[in-house]
Amino acid sequence: MKYSLITDVYEEIEATTKRLEMTDFLVDLLKETPKEVVDKVVYLTQGKLYPDYVGIELGVADKLAVKAIATSTGRQEREVEEDFAKSGDLGETAANLLTKKTQATLFRQPLTVEAVYDAFDRIAHATGPGSIDLKVKYLCSLLNDSSPREAKYILRMGLGKLRLGVADMTLLDALSVAYGGGKEAREALERAYNLSSDLGLVAKTVAHQGLEGIKRFKITVGRPIRPMLAERLSSAEEIFEKAGEKVAAEYKYDGLRLQAHISRKEVLLFSRRLENITDQFPDACKYIKDSVKAKEAIVESECIAVDPDTGEMLPFQMISQRRGRKYEIEKMAGEIPVAVFFFDVLYADGVDYTLYTYLDRRRELERIISKTERAQISAQLITGDAEQLDRYMNQAISEGCEGLMIKSIGPDSIYKAGARGWAWIKYKREYKSEMTDAVDLVVVGAFHGRGKRAGTYGALLLAAYDEDADVFHTVCKCGSGFTDEDLAKLLEMLKPYKISHRHARVDSKLTPDVWFTLGVVLEVIGAEITLSPVHSCCANAVRLGSGFAIRFPRFTGNYRLDKAPEDATTAKEILEMYQSQLKKITKEVVAT
Ligand code: AMP
Repeated sequence: MKYSLITDVYEEIEATTKRLEMTDFLVDLLKETPKEVVDKVVYLTQGKLYPDYVGIELGVADKLAVKAIATSTGRQEREVEEDFAKSGDLGETAANLLTKKTQATLFRQPLTVEAVYDAFDRIAHATGPGSIDLKVKYLCSLLNDSSPREAKYILRMGLGKLRLGVADMTLLDALSVAYGGGKEAREALERAYNLSSDLGLVAKTVAHQGLEGIKRFKITVGRPIRPMLAERLSSAEEIFEKAGEKVAAEYKYDGLRLQAHISRKEVLLFSRRLENITDQFPDACKYIKDSVKAKEAIVESECIAVDPDTGEMLPFQMISQRRGRKYEIEKMAGEIPVAVFFFDVLYADGVDYTLYTYLDRRRELERIISKTERAQISAQLITGDAEQLDRYMNQAISEGCEGLMIKSIGPDSIYKAGARGWAWIKYKREYKSEMTDAVDLVVVGAFHGRGKRAGTYGALLLAAYDEDADVFHTVCKCGSGFTDEDLAKLLEMLKPYKISHRHARVDSKLTPDVWFTLGVVLEVIGAEITLSPVHSCCANAVRLGSGFAIRFPRFTGNYRLDKAPEDATTAKEILEMYQSQLKKITKEVVAT
């Protein structure tokens, strides 16, 4: 197929402002395209060589392009750069300079789509020493056979600046008309695309096998599925209105979405944007492999950073440091350990679960996952009660989550790949403010450490003082901020305070491994004060069934040996801090 057929259409597409017209041009192009190269035509039109998830980039830099243009037009690089300074587009520059070079065009071979694709593929795969020269050579060989118009698009493609603005959906429209028998085919084509994230493959399938082939299209382990997305609401009432009388509320973990493809030979991980990020998370791959019992599966999960000794969730900023790394991956995995929370199954051992309802998928998920220390299924509550939902939300937040993911449990609650809809709703707080002051809290209990912290305490249960009732209410479980010396010191320091039961002046809903009598006061700072059903500080003061918790608490390093338990921060002060947080939020809202 002649490459000029494509570039003629590119010119038309660039000149039009109407989407429908753009689709018509693409339909004409596809109809002229031999079936054998339809996938290549589709990729090239989007400025790619492969679907995005393959992660192959062309890697032509401006400098390299200048060199290739200079060589193939017989100019000095300086002249090319001067023209580029005027045009601002190396594609235009290549076209300009080629137009001036008349003679050689008489001998040129017509460029084919296959040759262009092949040369770019070689350019993309050229690595190591000598690869720059090789890339220049391949580019020159294309330019030598190009018309000025073709050269313009070849340069833009190579530089990753084709930017015709042909959206996936426009190409799907065009494919439906060109090969699927009309617009009615669109839905089936879109589904095939959502299941494979590969437009070239969809094009090839419909070109060779027609609509029937598309209807038979199957999920393949190794090809990412376009993720289902959520709408957003900020009140429980609205949620029940939109999602039904009863909903499933899951913890919304604040991490990275991982779509895991498990086969007999490997585990592949795809990000929310479907990049292959397997190599960045060897630890998550292992946890997933160890906990998924199916031989082949595609499951969705959220991967979060955790404190290895306490198992507590850490803020998003931690896991984000693990993303995009090429080096020191093992070292980072040691420093920032992760845990995986599965929330959906899309495929398992031959069964496509995307058309099953939420509750059926959840049942299957529970069947194929065996819980391990680092991998488990998302926490879930099925409820039709607004108050219960809000309590669950506060519980999720105080444990380090972002809020809840509300999921419809109705008969049409299938997994809608690639779509945003009301079947999934994000329920997050609208605003958040920071805790600016540290607080002094009394150690009332402790949890045994695991792993590196075995033999010491993993986390301490801390309480604020309630002057009116003369009791101590818990506000957080704190496992962060302690150095190894702190841990050893605390073990000794707390020994004399150990008792076999909860102290009568301690009010706690949690049961730690060890209880203490009142004595040691520590300084702690957190991210913010949140409502929580787990802690007893100021219970019911703001909301029935909820107390306050300090989110992401961290020991500052200050042992307040100067303070008696009764000198600790009071529950009333925590309430005031919460209220001033709210005021700050209100001010921010008014200001925006
Ligand atoms: P957002 O990124 O704010 O649009 O929220 C959607 C994201 O929440 C998803 O892409 C997932 O990465 C993440 N998430 C965390 N927990 C869950 C869960 N239980 N179910 C679905 N998505 C979740």
